[in-house]
Amino acid sequence: MQRLNIRALVFVFVLTPTLALAQAKMTMSKLAGDVYFMQNSGGSSNSVFFITGEGVLVFDFDIRTADQTLAAIRKLTDKKVRYLISSHSAGDHATGAWHFREDKPVYIAAKNQAKDLFMQEAKEFEERKNSKDPGNEPYRKGELVRPDIAIDGPTTLYFGGLTFQITPEGRGHSTGDLTVFVPQKRLMLMGDLLDTEIHPGQGESAGVWYSNVNGWVAILDNVMARNLPVETYVPGHGPVHMARGVKDLEEQKRYFVVMRDEVAKMVAAGKTLEQIEKEFKIPPEFANYTRPERLKNFYKLFYNQLIEKGY
Ligand SMILES: [Zn+2]
Repeated sequence: MQRLNIRALVFVFVLTPTLALAQAKMTMSKLAGDVYFMQNSGGSSNSVFFITGEGVLVFDFDIRTADQTLAAIRKLTDKKVRYLISSHSAGDHATGAWHFREDKPVYIAAKNQAKDLFMQEAKEFEERKNSKDPGNEPYRKGELVRPDIAIDGPTTLYFGGLTFQITPEGRGHSTGDLTVFVPQKRLMLMGDLLDTEIHPGQGESAGVWYSNVNGWVAILDNVMARNLPVETYVPGHGPVHMARGVKDLEEQKRYFVVMRDEVAKMVAAGKTLEQIEKEFKIPPEFANYTRPERLKNFYKLFYNQLIEKGY
């Protein structure tokens, strides 16, 4: 028995580094003509790229997976990557600019993101660079590249015959999420303001949790109120629902409202945060969502934000 246990342990130790080294696979699909979606098969961050006659624009890049995005681009075109845009400063969306360095793209981000990338995000990058965790190998090889342009309000980029309407949406999932609307393609890139079939993640960098549910709901309301001719809203995590339109945003908003109400009921019944974490039942309409472990930080957030409001 003893012997078997030791062998089992050895097995685990030998296998773990190999498993941790394998980064999630990015699966490519087409969103529209010359626009491609890279879905993270592990449920982590997605990426989008546009190929135009003037070059390529990439939206969101994780240092652990952006090499796969670059490889997909290189297979499809010999055009250079000219622009990078990140939805927000979290590591899974804004650390991978380094992979595109050969093409010298211009990197655009919202002002708050740029600030985060100089402060806590840079700290986290350094920590991961110095850690021995095999999963952090991409951090050891790469560098954190900061934005070249930090925008402070709605900005339009005309590039390759397309119009990229970049809007810093304010504080919601993170300290400063931006969206990109491309009217010619009837697409809107939502970053982590939209997650599909998956419990949304809390904005985090270097251990600071900064999502704001009220802000998040307000942003979704703002985007819906624009009544844009969008066929597909592209999520930051989870599969893309082609041509589902505003229904995806409605579902995301409903998720927050329903979940917050459930937590509010428990707060009103005098439950503590620990009890809520233990006893919370996911409403049936969201029971099929993956990554329930991400809910843990949301109980905390809902609870604290409800308490703050003096519920
Ligand atoms: Zn994310």
